[in-house]
Amino acid sequence: MTAREAERLAVYPGSFDPLTRGHDDIIRRGLKIVDRLIVAVAETATEEKAGMFGLEERVELIESVYEDEPRVEVTSFSGLLVDFARSRGARLIIRGLRAVSDFEYEFQMALMNRSLWPELEVIFMAPDNQHTFLSASLVREVGRLGGDVSRFVPPAVLERMVERFGPSAAGRAS
Ligand code: ADP
Repeated sequence: MTAREAERLAVYPGSFDPLTRGHDDIIRRGLKIVDRLIVAVAETATEEKAGMFGLEERVELIESVYEDEPRVEVTSFSGLLVDFARSRGARLIIRGLRAVSDFEYEFQMALMNRSLWPELEVIFMAPDNQHTFLSASLVREVGRLGGDVSRFVPPAVLERMVERFGPSAAGRAS
């Protein structure tokens, strides 16, 4: 077996609008069990709806968060996740599970994806307790309404949210 074949490569897909400390927790846990991780930013309807950052902006922002972590690659994708994973030779998908409420949808999706590509395996990872209530949509809402999101997102994301929503996003008076 060549070194390339032996390498464990996984895809962590999501909309990441924006990347939260919950996502970061899963990425860092994922790096303990795989050699390389592709953070795959999905082109989703959230952009037209109550989205915050555009697709390319999300990719650049996540890249800046992991600029010192060469094992993380960030890219966008459209279409079926299994097609993307297969095109990259990645048989592993990582997903985060926050609570039972995530389970049904995640389980259904895992089985659907595996029926589309039987060689696929999906790994569910639990974040640290303190991140189980965090979701990107809540962070967007709190930021938009003038709340302090500094505890919920990595510093580079916070900086961008301050540009968008003003200093209130970092808990400072305007
Ligand atoms: P969100 O659900 O926050 O909008 P995404 O759609 O980008 O995020 O989700 C990408 C993946 O990250 C999903 O598997 C989701 O369950 C997981 N995830 C999101 N937030 C957290 C968190 N706080 N802790 C653990 N996993 C999370």
